[in-house]
Amino acid sequence: MKRDYYEILSIHREASVTEIKSAYRKKALECHPDRNPSAEAEEQFKEASEAYEVLSDSQKRAVYDQYGHAGLDSRGFHHGFSDMGDIFSNFSDVFEGFFGGGRGRSRNGPSPGQDLRYDLQLSFMEAFQGLERKIEIERQESCVSCEGRGYPKGHEPTTCRHCGGKGQLYHSQGFFTISSTCGSCQGQGRVVKEHCSECRGRGSIGRSKKLNVKVPAGVDNGNQLCLRSEGEAGKNGGPPGDLYVVLHVEEDHRFQRHGAELHLEQKVSMAAAALGHEVEVPVPEGHEKLRVPPGAQTGDILKLSGKGMPNLRHKGRGDLLVHLFVETPKNLSPKQEELLRAFLTESGEKTAESSFTKSPKKSKKSKRWF
Ligand SMILES: [Zn+2]
Ligand SMILES: [Zn+2]
Repeated sequence: MKRDYYEILSIHREASVTEIKSAYRKKALECHPDRNPSAEAEEQFKEASEAYEVLSDSQKRAVYDQYGHAGLDSRGFHHGFSDMGDIFSNFSDVFEGFFGGGRGRSRNGPSPGQDLRYDLQLSFMEAFQGLERKIEIERQESCVSCEGRGYPKGHEPTTCRHCGGKGQLYHSQGFFTISSTCGSCQGQGRVVKEHCSECRGRGSIGRSKKLNVKVPAGVDNGNQLCLRSEGEAGKNGGPPGDLYVVLHVEEDHRFQRHGAELHLEQKVSMAAAALGHEVEVPVPEGHEKLRVPPGAQTGDILKLSGKGMPNLRHKGRGDLLVHLFVETPKNLSPKQEELLRAFLTESGEKTAESSFTKSPKKSKKSKRWF
């Protein structure tokens, strides 16, 4: 009579793949010959391995959950394990870094170089105008002398005799097969007889490289420029990585930026706002005259079309939106006070009454003069 797989691994029926794996590893450790040198332990280990084999496979697990052992039998899913080597070769991923590593992965294939990052600080005006900047980066470049192989031409590496090219050695210990990295080839599976004298066999050399970075006008804080293939050299013929230039744009004390749109608060005197007036407002490249219409209120917005930041994706520039702030005059001169009193008298009680509304919020609606 076969035991329940979940019971064997002491897990609940909803256990995740990770839980199943760690339960199996725990079981395997309990059955280790150093701790438990008996035929019974070996049987338990085989049993646990079979349970793991089924439960770690979503298809087999679904069949087992629904039809039990009989279901697996009828589909030919039951096979069990004859010996330890069979188990280890099947579940090398489970035992990786556990009993001294599973089968070594090939480290000789081409692998791409790493991407690099460079942080570039820009002023607001540099972002507005765009610029070209020379930067210097440290990176690993493919060795010219050996073309990145690590050994001179005509000195091809030979397959390691100790491990037969696997990079791993397998020892039997009790019923366990323990694998370890081959010392002769350091797990590479091949032996290089002569190293390139230029790069000492590494295939790449650390070099500092000067690059020209073109920053387009209109970039914003956090934008990245990608310089293709300017990262670290790849290994064994793999492509180089990319270089990412991360832009940090300083804020400007005059403007608030939303993409290509700029915002600015402009103070206007009470009289200028009432009568209408021309004011000078800052724009990125200098100053611009702006007509404040008569009767303008605090919060009203005026637009200077095409005076914002350059658009990155299409031509032209965003707008500059001017938010008005009407200032009540303070520290009046006797003459000013006299004029304002005359103004108040002229306006009479009407002004005081009409300025008082039942719901002040409704009257605060700002007007867009465009
Ligand atoms: Zn070299
Ligand atoms: Zn070897």
